[in-house]
Amino acid sequence: MLALVRAHRPGLRLVDKAESPLMRAVAWFVRPFMPHFLTRVTTVLGDTIYTPGPPESLPPGLLARILAHELVHQIDQRAWGPLFYLSYALLPLPVWRTSRAWWERRAFAVDLMLALHEDGPSGLEMARRRLAVVFGGATYAWMWGGRHAAERFLQPVVDAVTDGELQAQSPYDDILMAWAGGGKVEADGER
Ligand SMILES: [Zn+2]
Repeated sequence: MLALVRAHRPGLRLVDKAESPLMRAVAWFVRPFMPHFLTRVTTVLGDTIYTPGPPESLPPGLLARILAHELVHQIDQRAWGPLFYLSYALLPLPVWRTSRAWWERRAFAVDLMLALHEDGPSGLEMARRRLAVVFGGATYAWMWGGRHAAERFLQPVVDAVTDGELQAQSPYDDILMAWAGGGKVEADGER
């Protein structure tokens, strides 16, 4: 997985979020509506992925999942530039039906796809329920507020994963291949 991300982002850097003055400043700013920003949420800006805790402390499988999710953001950031950042951070402020949710649905599609790959339909169902809470609740500041609304918002992606449609699309096809081909981070090594 590391090799795939590096192919897209040769300058990739993994940084402990708590060690970054910028991220600490953002955390202070968003604290009222995202209290776990530093400890639970990974953030990506261009080449740099800010992990919640020292990157070397994360279990390799988890780190591989994080890298795969963030790669979708990195591809979208490159394709959309300032439009990505503006719509991710600001439109509309701060909660309920956000454009941020639209970007996150593209990235969390990876999590759904890998859940099906690893644990079959019941794994996909568990991931679907977990994500309904993530989208509808406080973790990402109610980006698609309300659990039932979040479930409806996620359903098209769940269907695309179930049908195998998503797995045929870029960049999901490459991500699944990297994951399946010994795609855990330790298998890729620190090349
Ligand atoms: Zn994300």
